[in-house]
Amino acid sequence: DSVLIGPLQIGAYQDQQQLLETIVDQQGFVFAGSAIAINPEKIMTARQDSSVASMLQQAEIRYADGIGVVAVMRQRLKRPIQRIPGCELWQALMLRCAEFKVPVYLVGAKPEVLAQTKAKLQQQHVHVVGATDGYFGDEQQVIESIKQSGAQVISVAMGSPKQEQFIDRCKQQLPACFFMGVGGSYDVFTG
Ligand code: UDP
Repeated sequence: DSVLIGPLQIGAYQDQQQLLETIVDQQGFVFAGSAIAINPEKIMTARQDSSVASMLQQAEIRYADGIGVVAVMRQRLKRPIQRIPGCELWQALMLRCAEFKVPVYLVGAKPEVLAQTKAKLQQQHVHVVGATDGYFGDEQQVIESIKQSGAQVISVAMGSPKQEQFIDRCKQQLPACFFMGVGGSYDVFTG
């Protein structure tokens, strides 16, 4: 179930929990692909720039992270749709991964922020199998490290469009994993 706004099809998730259960289901199976938050600004840019539109269309899941987007969806579907803030979704996803013992790999942010993020997640019993800060040189080396870690969920905090571009290249080599671009979420989480 989804709504087309401009060039983007946005998933009509009733709330965060419904989206979480799509990403890691009741048996602990992980959705293969990536998720991206959509706000009105991204829709406007996608309307004007087809390269931005196609970047956003690479994600298998687009969810509404913006009250303007949610308002349009509610009006079209005539049923309750809640806004899903990306940072909150990410934190809830980490806890769901802990619950189902899903291995997680963290990419992005400055080394000290990343180290704090990892430590805090481990305190919450998240199984963090690897981490690479967002200022690496050799991308392929990072992808190999993710492969070897056995991670199933990979969160990438490098800001847009860097994280989306990285995710698209990763996905080709790790087609069974789930990827989420999380912007400045590690900074918020540890701040
Ligand atoms: N970041 C990174 N590598 C980069 C640029 C940024 O890991 O090459 C990290 C940065 O440390 C921060 C996050 O990406 O944790 C979000 O950065 P920024 O605020 O610039 O992006 P925005 O959230 O505005 O898209």
